[in-house]
Amino acid sequence: MTERLYRDDPYLLEFDAAVVERTAHESRPAVVLDRTAFYAESGGQPWDTGSLGPSRVVAVLESGDRILHVLESPLSADRVHGVVDGPRRRDHRQQHHGQHLLSQAFVRVASAETVSFHLGVESSSIDLDREVGDEALAAGEALANQVVWEARPVAVRTVTRSEAAALGLSVPDGAGDAVRLVEARGFDLQPCGGTHPNNTAEVGVVVLLGSEKHKGGTRVRFVCGDRALEGVRRRIRVLDRVGALLSAPLEAIEAALARSLDQLAAGHRQIRELRQLGIDAEAERLAATAAGSPAVVSRAYESWTPEDLRALAAAVTTRVRCVALLASRAEKAHVVFAQTPGLGCDMPGLVRVAAGMLGGRGGGRGDVAQGGGDRADQLDKAMDAARSALAADLESRQ
Ligand SMILES: [Zn+2]
Repeated sequence: MTERLYRDDPYLLEFDAAVVERTAHESRPAVVLDRTAFYAESGGQPWDTGSLGPSRVVAVLESGDRILHVLESPLSADRVHGVVDGPRRRDHRQQHHGQHLLSQAFVRVASAETVSFHLGVESSSIDLDREVGDEALAAGEALANQVVWEARPVAVRTVTRSEAAALGLSVPDGAGDAVRLVEARGFDLQPCGGTHPNNTAEVGVVVLLGSEKHKGGTRVRFVCGDRALEGVRRRIRVLDRVGALLSAPLEAIEAALARSLDQLAAGHRQIRELRQLGIDAEAERLAATAAGSPAVVSRAYESWTPEDLRALAAAVTTRVRCVALLASRAEKAHVVFAQTPGLGCDMPGLVRVAAGMLGGRGGGRGDVAQGGGDRADQLDKAMDAARSALAADLESRQ
């Protein structure tokens, strides 16, 4: 059985211990010590990290009565000096104790019990057993902070199961007969094996980030202490940058952004209208030059999108009875071949001829087909080949 030093002193970061077992966990070396200040993952609180001698501790896990320290590299010494990562431990004390205070606050303001707790990398969350509205959430947050700022002592003591029951506490099965209680004086008393500060003030502040309905209750996300400060700093930096981009002070950012988005949408509408006017004008021009029956209209453009080529092809083939062989040259080459319905030419076949010479492929069905390839320098030859194939097809049917 590993002696758990963090239980008596959650501020202890260095200790000496004897290695009592060497083993492995998921192909990494692992050791069991006779005593440890490392907290093993449990009850929603993640493990501590740090070092044992020269080896990094990458995970700490409960294994029956023992605590397994999973290491980055093997440890050969029989006695080791352990060092726990202090900032991470402090962060976990803040988030975990903040959770105790918040859970108790929701019992008091909303009769909502906490059914689970998760201490995450970015934020933490508790699941409440009932739906809690915005007003009660705000009241719970305010009460938790009041207790933080009252700087109440936090004490840990161990009692028997029956003593815990006499205090009205429900003790989880498997907790053994020795029950560790954590008490924020005059406010919260809980059985808990986690690491806690010795004063509520260390939590600093409790900030709710949001809530959502979850399994008939409410999931509440929050951050405490240094994380809350860092979260505020991050938001200030982002808002400052956004404000500078919009040339707006904090209070005016939302309105300025809404205005900009409206202007953007209006601009997009105008672009679409102008684009359609341009396509219609080009279609008129092509239709006016069309000759023969059926007419063949052929033209290559610079940097048109396939979408614009399709729109132009549709506009031309509805204005005049024709086959339209349209292309665009940009980094890649695109072709769109279309015909007025009823002409019966093989559009996909023509696209395959052109796309093959462009080093790509294409396809389609019936009266419209499209394709392209990377070899834009071959576009003139590819269009010549398509025109020849079309001419041969039309001639053979006369
Ligand atoms: Zn706890």
